[in-house]
Amino acid sequence: MMLLTATLAEPQHFSLAEKLLLVALMAVSGASFWRRFGTVLDKILQSKKDIGFQLFPLGKRLWDFFWEVLCQAKVIRQRPLPGLAHAAVFWGFCAFALVTLNHFALGLGVGFLDSQGGFGRFYSCLAAAFALACAAGISGVFAGRFLLRPKWLGAKHSYGSGLIALLIFLLMATYLGAFFVAPASPEARILWWGHTLTILIFLPLIPRTKHLHLILSPATIFLSRGGFSRIPALEDDEDFGLVAGTDLTQLVSLQAYSCVECGRCTEHCPAANTGKLLNPKEIVLGLRSYLNELGPASEEPLLGKYNARQAVFECTTCGACEFQCPVGIEHLPILIGLRRGAVNTGEWKNDHGAKLFLALEHGSNSLGLPASERDKFIAKQALPLFDGTQEYCLWLGCMGGYDPKGREIIADFTRVLRHLGASYGVLRKEKCTGDPVRRLGNDLLFQQLAVDNLENLAQNKVKKIISICPHCVRTIQEDWKAYGTPPEVEHHSEFLARFADQLPRQLNEEKIVYHDPCYLGRYRNVYEEPRVVVARSGQLVEAPRNREKSFCCGAGGGLAFLGEETGERISHNRAQELIATGAGTIATACPFCNSMFRDALASSGEAAPQLLDIARLTARALKLS
Ligand code: SF4
Ligand code: SF4
Repeated sequence: MMLLTATLAEPQHFSLAEKLLLVALMAVSGASFWRRFGTVLDKILQSKKDIGFQLFPLGKRLWDFFWEVLCQAKVIRQRPLPGLAHAAVFWGFCAFALVTLNHFALGLGVGFLDSQGGFGRFYSCLAAAFALACAAGISGVFAGRFLLRPKWLGAKHSYGSGLIALLIFLLMATYLGAFFVAPASPEARILWWGHTLTILIFLPLIPRTKHLHLILSPATIFLSRGGFSRIPALEDDEDFGLVAGTDLTQLVSLQAYSCVECGRCTEHCPAANTGKLLNPKEIVLGLRSYLNELGPASEEPLLGKYNARQAVFECTTCGACEFQCPVGIEHLPILIGLRRGAVNTGEWKNDHGAKLFLALEHGSNSLGLPASERDKFIAKQALPLFDGTQEYCLWLGCMGGYDPKGREIIADFTRVLRHLGASYGVLRKEKCTGDPVRRLGNDLLFQQLAVDNLENLAQNKVKKIISICPHCVRTIQEDWKAYGTPPEVEHHSEFLARFADQLPRQLNEEKIVYHDPCYLGRYRNVYEEPRVVVARSGQLVEAPRNREKSFCCGAGGGLAFLGEETGERISHNRAQELIATGAGTIATACPFCNSMFRDALASSGEAAPQLLDIARLTARALKLS
């Protein structure tokens, strides 16, 4: 009968033949590992250098490494149960590093952990606890992948993953088994060799399967660009974006090889969820296939066989993929880089896109209307012009200056500003921030718009901007930085939340569901402020997909101007979810979301809820509307 001895049974002596066999097997396994891993490393290192990449300061990198890699916080937070299963495997591997080192040292006659002695006994028992958790975790991961198999994992089974899971389980079983046999028994020797062979088979499989992430993802997370959706600047006039293999940078190649194929990006992608061609996981894997087959020195186009141009232009830049990815893959620089490549080489032909570019080259706004329309609106609303004495420059943006519903938001917001005694003025002239062209990959046009706007703001001595549009806020604050120093900028939800105490609290039971705009939530991390404002006007209810998991309205990435051509409309999908909450009012905090839902609700065929921006809700509560 087998007994649990609470002591790890290990062979104490190895014959010369055993030692020679062990050395030979280690050499074969190591060489096989390096043959593939060396090739991958070469492809990454031969890729173009990332211009502008800065390793320092290290503080945030170290924190991200600690939190996301060592604590597995992101993996667990996004999907608690599978995340914990994965974390158990990872922590098991960490605990086994010392055990494995000692295991091979023992086989070579230089073992340093005495499993019978104080520390050795303690550590082997600790590792046994991790081994149990790891075995349970890998069984859970296996069940998730092969039995439950959620749709975002795709239809194709990865049998390599199954084999790896089996090997990890065997690793743990052969280790734990040694607690049930007598020391120096033949069984202990069999288990020792079983454990050894499992490791030596496992090692060369790592770089040949998606388990390459075990080695690369810590580096990917540590070397991230250090900001959400950080679009790198183009190097010079010869840099057209991601056109061919020669344009792939080291970071992009590293990320392509780090993908663990978990499908979290696809699970949350609004395009993939509404029947479009775009699948962010496949975009990353497409680049990996390109690198495997052609390498980073290839002049073959990146778009075509490996990734479809149509897919790249279906992205709303909502950022759900990048936000969810557990191994630090930055999808947006990749997607926008590919768009840049297609736009700058003239390969992208789209009538709506061409119209938008032309409107912004010759005019001031993305709606293609004459600037005089904005002047008329300012005159009609008697909006004060900014003269340097007011605290805020109220940025109208294309939607606030030209779109009828966007104008309603501005009109109500200015009433609230006046009520609160905040001094503001609007610019006599204003151009589009360049958000849609930036995301569509037209950098030349974006640069012109950013530079013109920055000059205008400097001439007007603007110190603080307030805006109703999260896209404007993001573009001014982050994207313009490449061309100058933008003024401080704040979204109206942040402003209103600061004055929440001065807003009336409606004592009614009206249910209001708040839709998190991607560019306010994921891009700016502003979730609470609009909720504080909404809660003053009624009973706040949440949609199933809320906060960082919010589902896009479909407008971002320039898509408001391109339109959707395939599948279900993203705005309709989201509107149905908001309607299903039973709320009488849908609250938004972005004029683009407002515009998308306006159309979606109009065609919903139901008694649609009311749709109001938070500024309008506030004005209504103050009886100013
Ligand atoms: S940014 Fe949004 S739409 Fe684009 S690929 Fe990622 S999840 Fe999909
Ligand atoms: S890109 Fe990231 S989220 Fe998407 S499948 Fe790969 S590892 Fe998972």
